[in-house]
Amino acid sequence: MTRTKLKNDLDGYEVWFVTGSQNLYGEETLKQVAEQSQAVVDGLAGLPVKVVWKPVLKDSDSIRRMALEVNGRDDVIGVIAWMHTFSPAKMWIAGLDALRKPLLHLHTQANVELPWNDIDFDFMNLNQAAHGDREFGYIQTRLGVARKTVVGHASNPAVRQQIEDWERAAAGWTAARTLKLARFGDNMRFVAVTEGDKTEAELRFGVQVNTWGVNELVEAVEQAADADIDALVQEYIDSYDVVDELLPGGARHQSLRDGAAIELGLRSFLEEGGFGAFTTSFEDLGALKQLPGLAVQRLMAEGYGFGAEGDWKTAILVRVANVMGAGLPGGASLMEDYTYDLVPGNERILGAHMLEVSPSLTKKKPRLEIHELGIGGKEDPVRLVFTADPGSALVVALSDMRDRFRLTANVVENVEAPDLPKLPVGRAVWKPAPDFATSAACWLAAGAAHHTVMTTAVGIEVFRDFAEIAKTELVVIDEDTTVRGFQSELRWNQAYYRLAQGI
Ligand code: MN
Repeated sequence: MTRTKLKNDLDGYEVWFVTGSQNLYGEETLKQVAEQSQAVVDGLAGLPVKVVWKPVLKDSDSIRRMALEVNGRDDVIGVIAWMHTFSPAKMWIAGLDALRKPLLHLHTQANVELPWNDIDFDFMNLNQAAHGDREFGYIQTRLGVARKTVVGHASNPAVRQQIEDWERAAAGWTAARTLKLARFGDNMRFVAVTEGDKTEAELRFGVQVNTWGVNELVEAVEQAADADIDALVQEYIDSYDVVDELLPGGARHQSLRDGAAIELGLRSFLEEGGFGAFTTSFEDLGALKQLPGLAVQRLMAEGYGFGAEGDWKTAILVRVANVMGAGLPGGASLMEDYTYDLVPGNERILGAHMLEVSPSLTKKKPRLEIHELGIGGKEDPVRLVFTADPGSALVVALSDMRDRFRLTANVVENVEAPDLPKLPVGRAVWKPAPDFATSAACWLAAGAAHHTVMTTAVGIEVFRDFAEIAKTELVVIDEDTTVRGFQSELRWNQAYYRLAQGI
């Protein structure tokens, strides 16, 4: 069997930079257009996804061919367009209609300051993005093209940041479009919010969601070789503070070996099938000895998507957030809103799961422990125990609203947690924006899930860009949110998204 290592970086990806013009201006001006657009691209060097300059586009046919080439290239994950001069936008109709990749409209110009004393009409002919880009804006809106518009000179750090955010969203989109997700067993019985339309998910996001019997995973776990288990146990000892009872010679060392076998089996199953995300269900563990805890935690930290209780929608988000945050400090994890501290003025949310929270949420060394788990009816599972580091974070949920998917995001702040000596799991404690009561009321009004992805690597802007690319509703709860305004937005969205779908 061939094994596919999970891609979890942005290496090898490109976005193409295209400059629109026309043949009206003559060779000399077009040469300057080409040189100056190359200089803009040079100014964008060092972004996480390489920006590649392409020859200036001057007619409909070359624009359409560019779009078709981009569509066919797996390594080209988006297009940045700029109209340095005036590019009559009917030239762009066929190309924009054909383009199936994320689009960023960079509304910029070559110079920062105007050379007021030297401006003649040659200068005006060359530097006319102020109206060339408006013509381009018109045709994009006229055609209903989803895109991000970024305004300003390429040397402005805020402009660079917005382009980087979009690049990350485009990489997340690419990850979704190529994602194969394995479900071991079905959803937790009777749970509503983890359900959803898997066919629609493949059409909208490109994710293949399919189910395997858990005993196929058990077979892979049973194949784990002793030598590989030995090596993995040593890796655990090197990476974590392992409690004595789990160490070689310890009373419960066999449980650690069983946990290692589960990791090896899971990894081989995922790599052989080319999967980038998976789900488990504590109600359907077959002959697995433990609910997978440690293995799931470590695989999430490596970039895999995961959802518990068959929650494939959250598994997609964890995978996408992992890719979007590639190379940044922090990480992405399954999270679950569990319980509240309701002391007035200092309300906090304690989030955790039975076991499956990614250690990428902390820079500290997690403890590797074993404890009883009342749920699932299996042997005590091994797990990593830690608290997410303080700092800004984001929780995002994906709900199936019957006629569409809805993303709900809340900007939150992870805070220092009190000692939790009797809660041996990965966890996070946070304060939601704008305040606890507003956040929770809006979250409930949106019908957002109790499972989320928590990311500490990327901010809300990246998810906004992702939602725009995915043409998916996103409602955001942040410092500007009010309950009344949010409820109105939900009502307007209800109408908008139904109308936008047509019949
Ligand atoms: Mn859960």
